[in-house]
Amino acid sequence: MEKQSKRRFIKTCLYLAGSGMFSAAAWLWAGCRSRAGGPDGGDKDFEPAYLGLHRSGELKKRAQALRGLMESCELCPRLCGAARLDGERGFCGASAQLEISASHPHFGEERSLVGTGGSGTVFLTNCSLRCVFCINWEISQGGRGTPRSAEELAGMMLELQGTGCHNINLVTPTHYSPQILLAVDLAAAKGLRVPLVYNTCGWERLEVLEKLDGIVDIYLPDFKYADSEMAAKYSSGADTYPEVTQRALLEMHRQVGVARPARDGLMYRGLMIRHLVMPEGVSGTGKVIDWIAANLPRDTYINLMSQYRPAYKASKYPEISRRLTRSEYSEAVSLARQAGLTNLDIQGYRFF
Ligand code: SF4
Repeated sequence: MEKQSKRRFIKTCLYLAGSGMFSAAAWLWAGCRSRAGGPDGGDKDFEPAYLGLHRSGELKKRAQALRGLMESCELCPRLCGAARLDGERGFCGASAQLEISASHPHFGEERSLVGTGGSGTVFLTNCSLRCVFCINWEISQGGRGTPRSAEELAGMMLELQGTGCHNINLVTPTHYSPQILLAVDLAAAKGLRVPLVYNTCGWERLEVLEKLDGIVDIYLPDFKYADSEMAAKYSSGADTYPEVTQRALLEMHRQVGVARPARDGLMYRGLMIRHLVMPEGVSGTGKVIDWIAANLPRDTYINLMSQYRPAYKASKYPEISRRLTRSEYSEAVSLARQAGLTNLDIQGYRFF
């Protein structure tokens, strides 16, 4: 391992251990020590999906096609019809101007995305789902962010790659998907080679996902609710969430397949589903698990998230105004195991 990488790796282990994430630190350390070729002996053959379409010129065309959908906006299932190209802001709060809240290496994401150098996370401003319990509400609903050009976003991606991040992780990207594709095209011309992670609420239109086919390497969607009533109540009337998200997950799986880490422990391709277990069964965990078991391979990656906390407006809803209990989370894990799901990311080592 190069001196600089070694220092960064040790720093990451110490940071995780210092934050109480001992098993994550141990995992990293053990993973590093067990690799015959060392951590630099990762998947050298990897080529990101977007590179081929960049070379053929198709990436730019896809960006233009998505930009057309902003005319009377239909980029997300809200279909609010805002005239974004004329400066109007949509239900999500976005105009045609790309806005970004922050970009930095993130060490709190899934281990196979974080590795030793972190996940190169870009937080996009605004969101179409607008959940009452959003932990990032200042960014998603409070408008926190700075106007940026596609060139600037491309520069951020290259900088994240340059600092050793293993991927570019775009958080809540869909309302800015045209600008993102343009930025990826520009960055690819200047040497961007790490995988692209599409980190989404899961509520995605097939028409838009089809435009991302061959561009996104890793889909990282939420599967938040099994019941449309819950989705409508806590996510600003989004009663189509369960059916739309189920269709979206099938399409994502068709495009990138099952997520399996490479021999260096990092993820390069695949579908990684997140399910936030909520108090009082609000997120319908049993039904979510049953649907995944019945419709996707049993080794589909699922992160059963235990870290729910009542953020933003959640205190106005008594049933979700508390953290999850240990028994609620244990029940969710048992349900997933009983359903035969084999690729579970369980978070029992923290939050309780
Ligand atoms: S992305 Fe925003 S502007 Fe476009 S349809 Fe959805 S909510 Fe409306």
